[in-house]
Amino acid sequence: MATYKRLDVAFEAGEGAWLIDSRGERYLDALSGIAVCGLGHAHPGIAEVLARQARRLIHTSNLYRIPLQEQLAGRLAGISGMDRVFFCNSGAEANEAAIKICRKFARHKQVEEPVIIVMEGSFHGRTMATLSATGKPEVRAGFDPLLPGFRYMPYNDIPALEKLEDAGERVVAVMLEAVQGEGGVIVPDPGYLKALRDLCDRNGWLLVLDEVQTGMCRTGAWFAYQHEDILPDAVTVAKSLGNGLPIGACLAAGPAAEMLQPGSHGSTFGGNPLVSAAALAVIDILSGQGLAERAAASGRVMLESFRAQLADLDQVVEIRGKGLMIGIELSGDCGVLVERALERRLLINVTGGRVVRLLPPLIITEDELRHIIDTVCFLVKDFTG
Ligand SMILES: *Cc1c(COP(=O)(O)O)cnc(C)c1O
Repeated sequence: MATYKRLDVAFEAGEGAWLIDSRGERYLDALSGIAVCGLGHAHPGIAEVLARQARRLIHTSNLYRIPLQEQLAGRLAGISGMDRVFFCNSGAEANEAAIKICRKFARHKQVEEPVIIVMEGSFHGRTMATLSATGKPEVRAGFDPLLPGFRYMPYNDIPALEKLEDAGERVVAVMLEAVQGEGGVIVPDPGYLKALRDLCDRNGWLLVLDEVQTGMCRTGAWFAYQHEDILPDAVTVAKSLGNGLPIGACLAAGPAAEMLQPGSHGSTFGGNPLVSAAALAVIDILSGQGLAERAAASGRVMLESFRAQLADLDQVVEIRGKGLMIGIELSGDCGVLVERALERRLLINVTGGRVVRLLPPLIITEDELRHIIDTVCFLVKDFTG
């Protein structure tokens, strides 16, 4: 169905940060399939693991033990500080699991008609529950009646949430992105997540972080909450967990990890041997190559370069980012830049109409980084000048 307005280009092969189209033209990928291919395209290590696993066993269902899934759960628990993992196949599904955890948590607390606080400008997925939780009206439009039980609050605004403390006996959880991605790369103030953690602790609310886009080293740490030295009650991942293989996960700690029991949730494909093998390989490569540190360093170079070259331009509102998640906000619609970049063989994204969004693979080299910076600076100067 016509769910996407696609660009007229088709890629047939990839190699690291590069994609090759059907005519043999090479494009530098500064989007990574929307923060999915953190290790780049056609990674030989991933390809090898997949081929080997496909010859052994692809799927058995969750009616039996899956040792690779158990190993992966252990690795994820180790890098996140969470206790238990539920496996599914996408970001929306990971968030569905988190929402179901919040609802069960409400039952345990005997809260009728519970409320989950979510944020304006957020994006949590396209299923009925996750679009109801999404704070972008255009995502919800036309799908009423929505799932009740979500209250939209301003992002990066602790005082606004403090006002709900007294009136908020029906509130059971706060769910948010650690950095808003689709919303335009909105980086909250330092200390925001820590303050939220305190607020949730004071009120007995669960803190649920959607790290579908920010997780797996994208922001320069395994998870963005680790920059603030806190632990959420639940965290969702997907996008880059399988470097392109469809896998999502909802990780949880403490009481939140005990809410889902046999019969209350499930997934036929979730965490099957093939995707688990891929995700294990992804984690091995990310840690073995120090890609979190590299993402942090590369991101700093990009931010500094863009600020040095673009910050003074009239139509540049703000340049922001965390690790290899970079946004350049312009004062007007700049969607045309996607096609202009494509003409120059560079893949970028514009979100919210006005924010140039860059999500290059974490394996990006210095030369490739320079190429992205030069091309984007040229395009923005040309557009605004
Ligand atoms: C992409 C995204 C989702 C949805 O993931 P899907 O795999 O497309 O369902 C949810 N939350 C955030 C923050 C995302 O960036």
